[in-house]
Amino acid sequence: MIPAQFDYVRPGDVSEAVRVLSESEEPKLLAGGQSLTPLLRFRLAYPDVVIDLAGLTELRGVQDDGDRLRIGAMTTHDEVLHDPLIAAHCGLLAQATRTVADPAVRHRGTLGGSLAHADPAGDLPAVALALDAEFVISGEDGERTVPASEFFQDYLTTALDIGDVLTAVRFPKMSGWSFHYEKFSQAAQAWAVVGVAAAVRPDGGGIAEARVGLTNMGSTPVRAHGVEAACRGIPARADALRDAARTADADTDPPNDLSAQADYRRHLARVLTGRALARAAGL
Ligand SMILES: Cc1cc2nc3c(=O)[nH]c(=O)nc-3n(C[C@H](O)[C@H](O)[C@H](O)COP(=O)(O)OP(=O)(O)OC[C@H]3O[C@@H](n4cnc5c(N)ncnc54)[C@H](O)[C@@H]3O)c2cc1C
Repeated sequence: MIPAQFDYVRPGDVSEAVRVLSESEEPKLLAGGQSLTPLLRFRLAYPDVVIDLAGLTELRGVQDDGDRLRIGAMTTHDEVLHDPLIAAHCGLLAQATRTVADPAVRHRGTLGGSLAHADPAGDLPAVALALDAEFVISGEDGERTVPASEFFQDYLTTALDIGDVLTAVRFPKMSGWSFHYEKFSQAAQAWAVVGVAAAVRPDGGGIAEARVGLTNMGSTPVRAHGVEAACRGIPARADALRDAARTADADTDPPNDLSAQADYRRHLARVLTGRALARAAGL
């Protein structure tokens, strides 16, 4: 289908993007277009103006920001995959990004677009939630920072207001942690039926701390707080981590859809969480 008619603007900087957003009735920001373009073509979105962020080089790239990495919102998935700072300090993000779609999508799609779109089946929101990422947002009232725990609010809904641009995401440097992203999908290079982002901080022969985020187990990514508590201080053994993962589906509300029924997703969440924790612990 052909999209409904809209105006097209390429702002010169973020403040111009914010100004155009505030002056428009129904604006839409365009990043890599991998989710927005299908919405336009199916006429599920019909903005009066599309604001293309492609020219804003200030929104691209990765910077060392002390105890965090600041990743520009327009950094593509492929750039995330090849960035040495991300490889050194935030390997879980790179590992999950490697499972996103195929090389063509990864060359166009962006980290910021994936997180702003907030599809609960997307792989990167669960990573951002598990790692306590911070979202840097520019709007009419200036810049603010929102923690991941407040950013994802509902299905395709975030803390971004209509006049806001997500400019960067700040991920903590995870020194001393090991990690694994476990994704169950029905075909290679497909969306997750369920995914688990896990990070553990080993201490001697045990687990000092764990972080777990779940993909496609509700209308938003879900943090498995019960599992994290159950992991604290247990031996780094596969059976102990499997036991800790038994409550992975608590506080979830997984969808019933053509890929899987909710009870099957609950089963997957428990099994995949045990597996992700064990792999993160090097077992
Ligand atoms: C065939 C295919 C398979 C895919 N498989 C997967 C998969 O397995 N796992 C996965 O996680 N994803 C998958 N995706 C989605 C992919 O990750 C997209 O890159 C992502 O969803 C959107 O990123 P984008 O940069 O293309 O954003 P766009 O499509 O340009 O934008 C998406 C939405 O975010 C908004 N937005 C974008 N940037 C900003 C910003 N800086 N500030 C505020 N709002 C913004 C837009 O207005 C729009 O509403 C797939 C996509 C395709 C086409």
